Amino acid sequence: MHTLCDVAIVGAGPAGLLAAINLSQAGHKVFLFEKDGFPREKICGDGLTADAIKCIKDLKIFNEINKKGKSIKSVSVFSPSRTEAKFSGNFLTIKRMWLDYFLLEEAKENGTFFIKGDVESIKHLSDGVEIKLSSYPVSFKAKVCILATGAKTELARKFGFFLDIKPSALAIRTYVKSSIFLNRLVISYDESILPGYGWIFPLPDGLFNVGCGVFCGNNREKVNLREKFELFVKNFPLAAALFESKLHEPEKLRGGRILSNLSQYTTCVIGRVLLAGETMGTTLPFMGEGVGKAMESGIAVAEATNLFLKSRKIWDLQSYQKFITQELSPKYTGYRIIEKIVSHRRSTNLLALYAKRNKKMNGAITEILAGEADPRKVFSTWGIIKTLI
Ligand SMILES: Cc1cc2nc3c(=O)[nH]c(=O)nc-3n(C[C@H](O)[C@H](O)[C@H](O)COP(=O)(O)OP(=O)(O)OC[C@H]3O[C@@H](n4cnc5c(N)ncnc54)[C@H](O)[C@@H]3O)c2cc1C
Repeated sequence: MHTLCDVAIVGAGPAGLLAAINLSQAGHKVFLFEKDGFPREKICGDGLTADAIKCIKDLKIFNEINKKGKSIKSVSVFSPSRTEAKFSGNFLTIKRMWLDYFLLEEAKENGTFFIKGDVESIKHLSDGVEIKLSSYPVSFKAKVCILATGAKTELARKFGFFLDIKPSALAIRTYVKSSIFLNRLVISYDESILPGYGWIFPLPDGLFNVGCGVFCGNNREKVNLREKFELFVKNFPLAAALFESKLHEPEKLRGGRILSNLSQYTTCVIGRVLLAGETMGTTLPFMGEGVGKAMESGIAVAEATNLFLKSRKIWDLQSYQKFITQELSPKYTGYRIIEKIVSHRRSTNLLALYAKRNKKMNGAITEILAGEADPRKVFSTWGIIKTLI
């Protein structure tokens, strides 16, 4: 037996939630499937950059998100030689548990049906898609299905999407409470972590999200993240001070995979099934920020789906593939250039020094962090010359 809806969305992370909010607002019947009950813990650095804030600032729930989080106006980036480059910007920290919970509330208020369950398989039918859950006796039928399962790509691969199974980076984080005052984000491309970075993100009430991520490159199997984290906490002065002044024992370290492999060859539409968010590799390579781009893809996938549901022309779903191939993925070439630069001690030191001393370069990186500048242009020969003249 089938239960029918217009759109089935699998995964209630930022990508799935933004798609659900937008499609429900457009009047479609949306079923959102999520394997975990909400509110749920989500392993993340809990830092939102301007691109994420832009995607949610007009939502009714944004006030609640703002109240629960901490607004931050600058980020300090440290190079291995501890050169500090400061960038201004619009940032917000909020535990992902709460961010995702509030977004789900907004989706439900707009009419999204939340169904807790692990989606086991999806199958094309002649006029739609069939969705089966491991613990449900009935299957569901939708006109369109959006897969937004984050770093879990099994379902998409089982369906036929060709996706790299290896992570681009691995990251771990903990929470620690301290009496130290900090009102900026801190990222350190620390000598002990390279190729990778450590972070200290202040949350409300004296809580800090502290973690580190390591780019996998060709070294995928050999990373001991726990050891890297311990070195970061021991060697990076601010991290050491936080842990020395801790007001309780830090929470257990928890880790996750990061997928940043979006490229112009990524297929994100097969028939009536579309991918959104980290499943197709939208998380930024050089700093592991992924909420903003997941949300952007959620909005774009909703737009194409809405077009299709109105016109019934299958070509309208392909407008999403066009957006990913022609507009979003080309920027990742630039993001990967930045990752290459910050993977090495010397080039990271040089870039930090340059960004510290050169206003134009500082401004250009500020725009990249806000998702406004195209990194390919900033780090092209002409882009660099422009910062010199
Ligand atoms: C340690 C760490 C730190 C990070 N720090 C930051 C940061 O500070 N800022 C930032 O912007 N990004 C950060 N990221 C990246 C960020 O977490 C991701 O980019 C973002 O969550 C991607 O959103 P998404 O909606 O694509 O997927 P997700 O948020 O992963 O959501 C996917 C959802 O799908 C559900 N799901 C999966 N499979 C199924 C299934 N078969 N059936 C039903 N439900 C399913 C999952 O339970 C999950 O809720 C970090 C990542 C890690 C690992």
